[in-house]
Amino acid sequence: MKVLTEDLLIKKFVEENNYSEAAKRLFEIQKAQWQMLAEGYATLDSVKSKSFQFDGYKIKAQFNAGRMISTSAKVDPKSISERKCFLCTENLPVEQKGILYNNKYIILCNPFPIFPTHFTLTDNEHQPQRIIDTFTDLLDLSKDISKYYSVIYNGPRCGASAPDHLHFQAGNKFFMPIDDEFHQIKNEYGKVIYEDDDLSFYAIDDGVRKFISIESLDKKLVVNAFNKFYKTYSELMNEEQEPMINIISFYEEEYGWRVIIFLRAKHRPAVFFAEDESKMLVSPAAIDLGGVCVFPREVDFNKITKEMIGEIFKEVFVDEELFKKSLVNLKN
Ligand SMILES: [Zn+2]
Repeated sequence: MKVLTEDLLIKKFVEENNYSEAAKRLFEIQKAQWQMLAEGYATLDSVKSKSFQFDGYKIKAQFNAGRMISTSAKVDPKSISERKCFLCTENLPVEQKGILYNNKYIILCNPFPIFPTHFTLTDNEHQPQRIIDTFTDLLDLSKDISKYYSVIYNGPRCGASAPDHLHFQAGNKFFMPIDDEFHQIKNEYGKVIYEDDDLSFYAIDDGVRKFISIESLDKKLVVNAFNKFYKTYSELMNEEQEPMINIISFYEEEYGWRVIIFLRAKHRPAVFFAEDESKMLVSPAAIDLGGVCVFPREVDFNKITKEMIGEIFKEVFVDEELFKKSLVNLKN
């Protein structure tokens, strides 16, 4: 594949199965050699951010003009079918190089960053975004690049800007406030679904976000818990397509995986579609829900308040009744 990097040091890291260093090196050389990427990260230097303190956690607002295309992307089937897929290797910019992972994924630098180092991990074939068959890939990836990065997944109907091409994203650990705050949030707001020495399976409603967490050193236990959740949740949502979820998978040698699954009811809040001055370009997906909410227009960033962010988040999550129902079913 033409897209794969020929860098010798990266090849050496890959042979050692050291994808954390391989990805880090890819970013460094791509930034030096690919102008679009360098420009994307230069705009990151000028992003503005402000932080809102909630009870036990914070949510930051980030003004990031570089995210205009992603935030406002049309992802309906007609628009998707009429555009060239920007994740297929033949459509990538010639300067863009990647690293093959497990003979299936390509690790690529994202030229429209939110994270200080931001990757897109694409399937090397054009196939729909879908988590149920690829959840173990998400776990493997998040373990193999865990020295520096965590991995996220946005469902095809709630945040993926290429719902037709399977991909994950990765970025610096501890950039999203939830990476640090998770245990405090869990202690304060979490309810046990199941817990023993090897697995911690929780439901958490922190007032603005409703999510499931799975923690374990044992991959099989994480997968089993996820499959159980997915099955009961899909049945409850009674949808033919994938239920709307966003995922953050965070791995640490000592503790193993921590998978957070946000349960969504809506792709975008009503203010996104407003046609008067109440309009706000905000389209929450995993990174936003992890505590870095992106606003590509400065006017929205200037206007946003803690109350508004809280309301926008609450609006795009399932309501309390659905959340409770999903837990009852999960315990059966
Ligand atoms: Zn594609």
